[in-house]
Amino acid sequence: MSKLNILIVEDHALTRFGLRTAFEDSSSNICIYEAENAQKGLNILGKENIDIVIMDLGLPDMDGIEATKIIKTKYPSKKVIILSSHEKEEDVMKALNAGANSYCTKDVEPERLLEIINSVSKGAAWFDPKVAQFVLNAASSRKNETLQITNQTKTTESNLTARERQVLTLISDGFTNNEIAQKLDVSINTTKAHVCKILQKLGVQDRTQAAIKALKDKIISVSYTHLT
Ligand code: CA
Repeated sequence: MSKLNILIVEDHALTRFGLRTAFEDSSSNICIYEAENAQKGLNILGKENIDIVIMDLGLPDMDGIEATKIIKTKYPSKKVIILSSHEKEEDVMKALNAGANSYCTKDVEPERLLEIINSVSKGAAWFDPKVAQFVLNAASSRKNETLQITNQTKTTESNLTARERQVLTLISDGFTNNEIAQKLDVSINTTKAHVCKILQKLGVQDRTQAAIKALKDKIISVSYTHLT
């Protein structure tokens, strides 16, 4: 396994220290860089081969969301995990639209954060369950649009079959497995098998993350004007 280079952009020295210690204690495959403001973080990104940025929102020189936008414009392949002390809906949606791959709150357990880092490094989008609902709410208030856009989505990236896309659309709309089975007139076991395949293909752990990935990849940017 190759080393993961992680940049922590965080003005609070004790938080940086805590993260560094937690990461270094639990994995030898991680190399940590630290920046106490956004500009220093950007300088490091220009010089080092960083894989993942852990970004605070309240920084002295620049808002973490602005910094994320710059990073994602300059280096689209770098992953950004927002690590925030609060879960304001406005910030979550802004972070998502700035291109953040993940939004965690600072009460996340270090082991959990490591799992998130691993899945984000493999291309998954992960959102704290406390904030995931905002994304889904925003989507379900625009259900028809969502359906329309999802149906237009091509399968190139995720390799989902037409049936799996249909199931994913229903998941994004908040339907349970039972409801999906009824709607599609198939058995509950068939539905569960579809859901399993979808999670596998999208590289996510649960249906909420699957819905968010679907929305994040294809829909949210289209609908951003409705959210502000
Ligand atoms: Ca801060």
